[in-house]
Amino acid sequence: MTILYEVHRGLYVNLTNRCPCRCTFCLRQEKNSRSLYGDLWLEREPSVSEIIDEFKKRDLSKYTEIVFCGFGEPSERLYDIFEVCDYLRTVTDLPIRINTNGMADLIHKKSTAKDFRGRIDVVSISLNTPNKERFYELTQNVFGPDAYDAMLKFAGDVKPYVGEVVLSTVATTITTDEEKECKEIADRLGVTYRIRPFEDYTEDK
Ligand code: SF4
Repeated sequence: MTILYEVHRGLYVNLTNRCPCRCTFCLRQEKNSRSLYGDLWLEREPSVSEIIDEFKKRDLSKYTEIVFCGFGEPSERLYDIFEVCDYLRTVTDLPIRINTNGMADLIHKKSTAKDFRGRIDVVSISLNTPNKERFYELTQNVFGPDAYDAMLKFAGDVKPYVGEVVLSTVATTITTDEEKECKEIADRLGVTYRIRPFEDYTEDK
């Protein structure tokens, strides 16, 4: 089981296969967990203590950040992530990022924003598109079209509790006009907009 894996100088955490989306572009749709970073499909979910034990085997001074991002949607295990973060805060000052679909509130059926305080430095959310209906077509999420509004609300709500919130789209997947609309959405929320290069999805989905 690959629990921790390296991407450039980041140490990435793979802790679930679960996700409420079936994104049309996601390698999961082909049950293809092979990537540049190994096989991320988990036979079972590692416990919090197993994840912490994996961190204890690593020399954390080799890395520039810790990133929760794996085969599934990390916020499915948000409260386990927070337990891991509480441990990490006792052993390292490395910044901690989560790459997410922004649906934590929908998954946990409550506002989760305040619980990020002191735990996560950067929340990177896949915006995908400035269009609500298109977002639903792309993500095919179980919550329905309103998940787009919930995702944006989460982005604004979590901002006061973390260092940075990033809304991202992938270069070449939307038009430049749509990218401008995405920037306007981010500006309205007071968060960062980033166009990330098309690359292996496990790195920064
Ligand atoms: S891209 Fe992310 S949010 Fe979409 S199905 Fe894959 S894991 Fe889930």
